[in-house]
Amino acid sequence: MKTDIEIAQEATLKPIGDIAKDLDLTEADWEPYGHTKAKLSNDLLHKLDNKPDGKIVLVTSINPTAAGEGKSTVTVGLGQALEKLGQKALIALREPSLGPVMGLKGGAAGGGYAQVLPMEDINLHFTGDLHAITTANNALSAIIDNHIHRGNELNIDPRRVEWKRVMDMNDRALRQIVVGLGGPLRGVPREDGFNITVASEIMAILCLATSLDNLKERLANIVIGFTYDERPVTVKDLNIEGALSLLLKDAIKPNLVQTTENTPAIIHGGPFANIAHGCNSVMATKTAAKLGDYAVTEAGFGADLGAEKFLDIKSRAGDINPSAVVIVATVRALKMHGGVHRDHLKEENIQALEAGMDNLKKHMETIDSFGLPFVVAINQFPTDTKAETDFVKSWCESHGADVALTDVYAHGGVGGIELAEKVMAIAGPAEGKPNYVYDTNEKLETKIRKIAQNVYGALDIELSPQAKKQLAYYEQEGWGNLPVCMAKTQYSLSDDPALLGRPENFTITIRELRPSIGAGFIVVLTGNMMTMPGLPEKPAALNMDVDKDGKIKGLF
Ligand code: ADP
Repeated sequence: MKTDIEIAQEATLKPIGDIAKDLDLTEADWEPYGHTKAKLSNDLLHKLDNKPDGKIVLVTSINPTAAGEGKSTVTVGLGQALEKLGQKALIALREPSLGPVMGLKGGAAGGGYAQVLPMEDINLHFTGDLHAITTANNALSAIIDNHIHRGNELNIDPRRVEWKRVMDMNDRALRQIVVGLGGPLRGVPREDGFNITVASEIMAILCLATSLDNLKERLANIVIGFTYDERPVTVKDLNIEGALSLLLKDAIKPNLVQTTENTPAIIHGGPFANIAHGCNSVMATKTAAKLGDYAVTEAGFGADLGAEKFLDIKSRAGDINPSAVVIVATVRALKMHGGVHRDHLKEENIQALEAGMDNLKKHMETIDSFGLPFVVAINQFPTDTKAETDFVKSWCESHGADVALTDVYAHGGVGGIELAEKVMAIAGPAEGKPNYVYDTNEKLETKIRKIAQNVYGALDIELSPQAKKQLAYYEQEGWGNLPVCMAKTQYSLSDDPALLGRPENFTITIRELRPSIGAGFIVVLTGNMMTMPGLPEKPAALNMDVDKDGKIKGLF
């Protein structure tokens, strides 16, 4: 089979104006970014306000292997399949971060004949949204350091500045740094560090904002750190929310592109689901729902991370209510959960597969507890044997779950017809709210415990002394009624990446909390989670190249 980039290069793209026209958009509703990309206007959502929402289908998965299980691929393929069945479908995805593109994955725009295009642009700098977010984030850092240097009127304690610099790359060397060295002309020395851009609170804000005004309001509420007498200092105190909004004025506009089969796709915002809330923007998903009969969207990693945060955070913030869920599973990941080493995933092993089904079962229970109907999509890989896919299918059927074998990677929309038909058969009304895991007015500790016990299957949580102190402070500060955004490894239901399958009798260690008051949630760091990843031993970047004619290789 051809590589993703070869398939992408052979696809015939329509001019983006034709895609916009098919969606009944007027010239004022969009602006072109080249021939095949466009930004949607700020007014569009407002204009569509009275239009009823189409049905939202949320694509999630089991706990993945390092390479991903094909959620984006299935999301794109399902949108294409729905179109083949005569539905008006839009796809709403996240923008890839250069961290995983250069590091582990080599591309994150779907795969095979189910890709969003132009994939090389989408995977690299696209329309510059991630750069704008990086710049806004670092402009705030510069303002903070300048404020401290110029007399520190706000009494900011340099040891308690929580706001970190960011870049969109995995770079472990920057996790902890010292800035302001070199004498009085170079500022006040203090410890700082870098996060990856997708973990920036500004990324979360962009994804949860409902308008430019709402973006500014959220930016103003960011807590950058604390004073010497431990009072929170906000962006509003620094009077910088106007400039930050200005830097984001185009980034807040959702991006319109198309798939390999010319299905419209809105790609916007891209927080990771392990260290952030893991969903594309509220504005993109809402616009997709307004413009189509179906909006197919994904949330990162497994249902323990992305889907939980989609339903408990994004759904509440944007009144975005899925009608159905697709749980993507692969034979290779299920075998890994059943104890097979990653070097042997290509060999048939029904026994391991059977043992690994426990992981899928837990995610089915989770989606069920949200009160949402679901279909399990088996994303077929060339190495899967018939005996293996037959086994997964009959296991799902015997557990009362709808299941569809999907081959959108090899065949595009045609490979997702069974899945699309099953999704259409179960999708509920567009306005039903999910059963949230917690009420926002419960105590932070209760909310964390409920997620750990009900979604991860933990016995209990264990709070570090620092987390205990922070919980008390946050409650006292009036932040206790915010949702929580868990930062946890994607590989396991527990906080230990080595515990695969469905671990039991474990506790979740709550190490540290961070206030994301602008985004509107409290980040809860579990286990050893870090907000700046490192590159793997053999980064995907080593296979990438561009020739003298500008032809790209190695973006998978
Ligand atoms: P996720 O969204 O779960 O992280 P992706 O959709 O990005 O996963 O897919 C991960 C990688 O696996 C991509 O490189 C994609 O091209 C590849 N892939 C996905 N589905 C298949 C498949 N059925 N067969 C072969 N490769 C696939």
